[in-house]
Amino acid sequence: MARMKQFKSESKRLLDLMINSIYTNQEIFLRELISNASDAMDKLFVRSLDDDSIQFEKDDLQIEIEVNKDLRMLSIKDNGIGMSAEELEKNLGTIAYSDSNAFKEALEGDVSDVDIIGQFGVGFYSAFMVAKEVRVLSKVAEDEQAHVFISNGVDGYKIEPIEKEGRGTEIVIFLKDNTDDNDYDQYLEDYQIRSLVKKYSDYIRYPIVMNNEEEKLETLNSQIPLWKRSKQDITEEEYHEFYKNRFNDFEDPLKVIHMNVEGLISFNALLFIPKRVPFNYFASDYEKGLELYSRSVFIEGHNKDLISDHFRFVRGIVDSADLSLNISREMLQDNHQLKKIANRINKKIKSELELMLKNEREEYEKFYDDFGLDLKFGLYNGFGANKEELQDLVMFKSSFEDKYTTLSEYVSRMKEDQKDIYYVSAESIVKARQLPQSELVMDKGYEVLFLLHEIDEFALKMTNTYDEKNFKSINQGALDLHDDKQQEKLETLTKENEDLLTKIKNALEGKVDDVILSSRLKSHPVCIVSGDGISFEMEKVVNQSPDENQHVRADRILEINPDHPILEALSHTKDENTLIDYSQLLYDQALLIEGLPIENPSEFSLKIAELMVKASNN
Ligand code: ADP
Repeated sequence: MARMKQFKSESKRLLDLMINSIYTNQEIFLRELISNASDAMDKLFVRSLDDDSIQFEKDDLQIEIEVNKDLRMLSIKDNGIGMSAEELEKNLGTIAYSDSNAFKEALEGDVSDVDIIGQFGVGFYSAFMVAKEVRVLSKVAEDEQAHVFISNGVDGYKIEPIEKEGRGTEIVIFLKDNTDDNDYDQYLEDYQIRSLVKKYSDYIRYPIVMNNEEEKLETLNSQIPLWKRSKQDITEEEYHEFYKNRFNDFEDPLKVIHMNVEGLISFNALLFIPKRVPFNYFASDYEKGLELYSRSVFIEGHNKDLISDHFRFVRGIVDSADLSLNISREMLQDNHQLKKIANRINKKIKSELELMLKNEREEYEKFYDDFGLDLKFGLYNGFGANKEELQDLVMFKSSFEDKYTTLSEYVSRMKEDQKDIYYVSAESIVKARQLPQSELVMDKGYEVLFLLHEIDEFALKMTNTYDEKNFKSINQGALDLHDDKQQEKLETLTKENEDLLTKIKNALEGKVDDVILSSRLKSHPVCIVSGDGISFEMEKVVNQSPDENQHVRADRILEINPDHPILEALSHTKDENTLIDYSQLLYDQALLIEGLPIENPSEFSLKIAELMVKASNN
């Protein structure tokens, strides 16, 4: 007798959840096991491509369901790739994602089994929702030794050699005893099994067979992949069930995109946009890509060339008769046909998103909260190449109602005399509004985009222009807010105060690149802005890189408001040392407002206090 082994701890927690599950959707266990069986046959096929020793008749591949009412037993048998003793141990003794942090956290947290079952996809273990014991009999090839994995889910499992005919896997389920709330006997009923297969597994590409009343094997599923059926014949529920089953989500998708393309290139694609961010979306194990089939035969699980990086949230399947099955994966990469399909698919996704933006704004904003970052990264990463595809899909918060706006909406609201699209980077809308630089621009009725994420400014820089309008940061370079008269006045004042400005600049030697009179301030005394090239935000982001050679520095220009009494006060300050102190104070204030660190906060505090004492003595 083989020794009992214990499940790995995460698996054990999941099993506990399964066994005690109040998950109402217990019936999904059947679709999970059928889907594993189908995968096992796909794998057999893929392996046979490089291994001549694997021989089988394609038409023999099938999934057989058997019922024994006396033993209250249900079995799902395939003639797929099978599992060796080691594979039984590795695949069933633990769960694939048990090492992922997201999974561990979810298990430790206060979660319902619905969340776990839904989010992580439970696969094989779902059998324990209905079984008091599960046996998995498996054999990898005709002449190998078969093994059985036996477990009740609670006391661990054992694996031992067994006699078994033929290659493949048979999952035998001994149903739990019925309770007041749960009738497990239903899974022994012919009509129930038929209806579950129809509901969840109709499209499975291999025949799912079962003995009928006359003891003859009957095929229960149509085997037409959902993506090959015509849109009119598919209900929303079918799409949704397919998605949830296939892509391990417990929520319906946000959008279903079904393409049946005929013409120079023919293909079917069934694409889904998830309703929320997959649990591993930001982890390195998230793989973008679409499942690729040729004439309904599986080629690849995650074909990355079919989908742009910025649409990496899209899940789905592509099936084309125009792809030859015998081409290797390396050749697929350069495949002309595949590129054309990818092109069509990405265009379609774009247009669907545009439609959603236009007709279902609220939905789109929710989508954008989850996946907008990818779209913005797309603008940036493409160095402008993705501009056409993405510029009308991105949104930013703006001073117009503090809500999301698209660039085209912004442009439609631009004032007649407004040349540029204004923006400012800030931590939050509140902070953006508090910036001294914001006041005058907004007062003039110009809208300002609030760039709240690190990537935003980079994305706009790469976009370069929108509708032939430049993007202009309100705290960078010269702003064109003055009319000729105001400009003239500023120039005169600058001349009159040349001496003072030079003195302040000297006092701040090495810290600022220039000190000028401002044309962008309204009620605030000072601000600091950067030159036209690198902005403070870019400096901050780029300098996070550990490689100091890459570090950059934005020019710092201290601007003093000529309409604020501070200018007058400064020009009356005769004592050189006091002027140096004041210069330093103004500079520090400007840095603080901008959210930049000041060099010596305690000295700043001392000087302010000194001023207060002086003021109260006068
Ligand atoms: P998933 O299918 O999501 O990987 P499961 O828990 O359902 O997770 O299955 C774990 C693993 O066990 C599978 O990845 C597969 O390698 C193996 N497996 C399950 N069922 C079968 C089967 N019928 N034939 C061969 N291998 C199987």
